[in-house]
Amino acid sequence: MKRRDFLKNVGLTGMAGMLAPSMLTSCTAKGAIGKNDIKDSYQTQLLVVGGGTSGVCAAVGAARMGIKTMLVDSGNCLGGMATKGLIGPFMTCYDAAGENMIIRGLFEEVVNRLVDRGAAIHPKDVRQGTEFTAWISVGHDHCTPFDPEILKIVFEEMCAEAGVKLLYQANFVKPVMNGRRITGAVLFTPSGLERVQADWVIDATGDGNVACAAGVPYVFGDEKTKKVQPASLFFRINNVDTDRLVAEVVPHLPEFRRVNGVSYRCLHWRVAEAEAAGEWDLARKSVNMFRSVQKDQWVINCSRIHNVDPTQAENLTAAQTEGRRQVQELMHFFHKYVPGCENATLMGTGAVMGIRESRHITGDYVLPVQSLIDGIIPDDVVLLSANSIDVHGAQGGPAGGLYMPIKKNMYGLPYRCLVPKDIDGLHVTGRCISADSAAAGAVRVMPPAMGLGQASGIAAALCIKHGVKANELDYADLKKELLNQKVYL
Ligand SMILES: Cc1cc2nc3c(=O)[nH]c(=O)nc-3n(C[C@H](O)[C@H](O)[C@H](O)COP(=O)(O)OP(=O)(O)OC[C@H]3O[C@@H](n4cnc5c(N)ncnc54)[C@H](O)[C@@H]3O)c2cc1C
Repeated sequence: MKRRDFLKNVGLTGMAGMLAPSMLTSCTAKGAIGKNDIKDSYQTQLLVVGGGTSGVCAAVGAARMGIKTMLVDSGNCLGGMATKGLIGPFMTCYDAAGENMIIRGLFEEVVNRLVDRGAAIHPKDVRQGTEFTAWISVGHDHCTPFDPEILKIVFEEMCAEAGVKLLYQANFVKPVMNGRRITGAVLFTPSGLERVQADWVIDATGDGNVACAAGVPYVFGDEKTKKVQPASLFFRINNVDTDRLVAEVVPHLPEFRRVNGVSYRCLHWRVAEAEAAGEWDLARKSVNMFRSVQKDQWVINCSRIHNVDPTQAENLTAAQTEGRRQVQELMHFFHKYVPGCENATLMGTGAVMGIRESRHITGDYVLPVQSLIDGIIPDDVVLLSANSIDVHGAQGGPAGGLYMPIKKNMYGLPYRCLVPKDIDGLHVTGRCISADSAAAGAVRVMPPAMGLGQASGIAAALCIKHGVKANELDYADLKKELLNQKVYL
């Protein structure tokens, strides 16, 4: 094979300017990156790129079916937004009536493992309108507070038990393509550029990085405006006198409401004081704070940064820096204005920015928000869910939000949303599945992301076993294995 053909085959013809040879520890040659700079390191049946909540469930779901599975992530732990991003609690896994737990399967197993270690509160014991839901009384029933450090351990244990091979600090660079079929990926790891040859690939990067690089069409942000929901940097605090904080908030509960798209939720009366004193310049006029498992620990979702594009490094860096500046302002606010938080300590800020929205991969079917509102359960349903349609910043205001109520007790998510257009050997899962922007506002949260991950792993395993394309998979086989893996349908 000629050198140029080789580079074309691995999709690296344009890479010489992207990675300086000095960055590659294995690189000895000077000048352009060549054949010898890419090691043929791994061969696997299934490669899952992205070890967030969705990717972990994809990998475990497939590996439990006997598929040789490799899970790679750019970070040094599993869990993605749930761990590196410090985001929590897990949003609801119940039906809209709050009566039955409908997201089960691996999600329920993870919750039970956490509860057994005292690292989560079971969702049956968590009701909306309480300190565990930032006192929000819509769409937050039966959330699951959890400890992100223990979640990292639980995910690693589950992968080890299932035989999943993990590789951290492994950045996806380019897909390996054979015509329209993806056959692996080139990764940038501490060992240099490494190629993984795979029978099947699942894109669980949240941003659709693999699918996009392979040539799958996508929509960035909202279909019409191309704008994305604002990003937020989560942080956690401890040393809070929770009894005093609760006593401060509860008398104000009747005032919690939304006006003109601006949410006046928790602590808006204290924010007003700080604003009057010239000590508040944040877009949000209230503080979403969720009590965590330990009584003195709280998760804060308040910073808000617009127009963040996670596919642009400089933009993302600026957002992360701005997020930390906002955290400083919030810590000052807690110390000075919030009873019970005078001695609060900053435990940590998210190691990654909280990205609500980026690319929506275009699949065989684009899930429309109307089907969630109408409670449609499609013929190829892989997951039942009732997460509310929560589109932050949808009304264009600095702090606007939009909840769209669903008319039925639940809706179904179709398999076709996991099947990308045009490229074979690939499924997508998690935040970037094929859905319109508003529908993604509902299915992006962690319980559905985990359910969809499990479904994509099972589907990939079946495609490998039966030698069929993603859109040729027999739904009866898929349903049988979903039920076998305790998914509630
Ligand atoms: C501000 C905010 C608040 C939220 N609040 C809640 C909430 O309260 N409850 C809830 O349940 N959900 C909430 N969510 C939603 C939820 O956290 C995410 O949408 C969900 O975690 C997405 O899971 P995922 O696995 O698809 O993606 P992620 O968790 O983002 O995981 C993707 C993984 O892929 C890896 N990756 C990406 N690119 C590459 C690459 N090139 N090479 C290798 N690895 C790569 C990343 O490192 C990451 O680990 C919130 C989200 C945001 C942003």
